[in-house]
Amino acid sequence: MEWLFFLLPIAAISGWLAARSHYKKLNNQQNSPFSPEYFKGLNYLLNEQPDKAIDVFIRLLEVNSETVETHLALANLFRRRGETDRAIRIHQNLIARPSLTPQQRDQALVELGLDYMNAGVLDRAEHLFLELLTKPSPPPEAYQQLLRIYQQEKNWLQAIEMAKKIQSFSQEIIGPTIAQFYCELVEQQLASSPDSVLDLLKQANKHDQNCVRATLLEANLYMSAGKFRKAIKTLLRIEQQDNHYIPEALPKLLECYQQMNDLSAFNTWLESLLTIHSNMTSARLMLTHVIHLQHGSQAAQDYLHQQLPKHPSVEGLHTLISLGEQSNPILIPLVKGITNTMVRRGSRYSCQHCGFAGKTMHWHCPSCKKWGTVRPTEIHLSALESLLEPSK
Ligand SMILES: [Zn+2]
Repeated sequence: MEWLFFLLPIAAISGWLAARSHYKKLNNQQNSPFSPEYFKGLNYLLNEQPDKAIDVFIRLLEVNSETVETHLALANLFRRRGETDRAIRIHQNLIARPSLTPQQRDQALVELGLDYMNAGVLDRAEHLFLELLTKPSPPPEAYQQLLRIYQQEKNWLQAIEMAKKIQSFSQEIIGPTIAQFYCELVEQQLASSPDSVLDLLKQANKHDQNCVRATLLEANLYMSAGKFRKAIKTLLRIEQQDNHYIPEALPKLLECYQQMNDLSAFNTWLESLLTIHSNMTSARLMLTHVIHLQHGSQAAQDYLHQQLPKHPSVEGLHTLISLGEQSNPILIPLVKGITNTMVRRGSRYSCQHCGFAGKTMHWHCPSCKKWGTVRPTEIHLSALESLLEPSK
């Protein structure tokens, strides 16, 4: 792999050569591009002495409008290789030159900010990008990077402000992300100032009326205030917002209907839900649970017995076995052990964008860092073999 790393700077040098020979055509009395200095630089590079090589290049490659691109390309190569300090040196050298046009200086400043981001010095990056925002026409990248910084710092108020600025000039659909930021803010302020959060949730709704997370948070507020009818009305909105998230609402709905002593209404709603979404295992299992609560274990088993052939699922099987545990003292515990392992190991949530799979709900994908792309899924029968392998 090492040889590949050498090729990258060489590619940059050939770019520089092209620029230089172009420059040469304009100034015929210039030195040959293959000057001894050039070979010295190349030699340092090949001998893994990039720091000396950079010194040679910086000295050799006078910064002017023709060579700025080459400087930028070389610095970016170093940054991509993780050699951030070298990238910073080249970018700082560029910025110090008075001959740059305002656009070139802004570009070099953006790149230097990216170096700082890579090096993890967020405060310096923030300072630099904020300075860029004071320019007459700030580079859009500065807004994007500030948004990244505020998210990393969990500074949600600033993140909201920056996202709104981006929304004002870009085509990007950023409303759902802003709604997620408001939800983050709600979770931050829930303990300290619970009175302000309902307003924040309204803001979330304003930016994304299909924000399921805001709906779940709103329902939580009503539930802790004992307003169960209002909580139910709120939770039922999720069916219209995005029915993939209904599984997240089911345990809350159960609690509300139980508190209101109205399980039969929940039963009716679940039945109608299953006529529309016949493969929603979580709803079928919840209905089984409700039947169990209302009419006992045998009724729940009968219901699942009748459902499972048409809608097989690991969790359904697991529930059925659990319900009938006493009836076969040898076989049942054995099969239950198997289904229990599958249910425990299975990933219940997955990211629609990058495929990340996990056991808990993440509104911000830990893998691809997108907002609102993780959603509840079912444990598929196709995953059985890998789920049953001994854990590492
Ligand atoms: Zn993802």
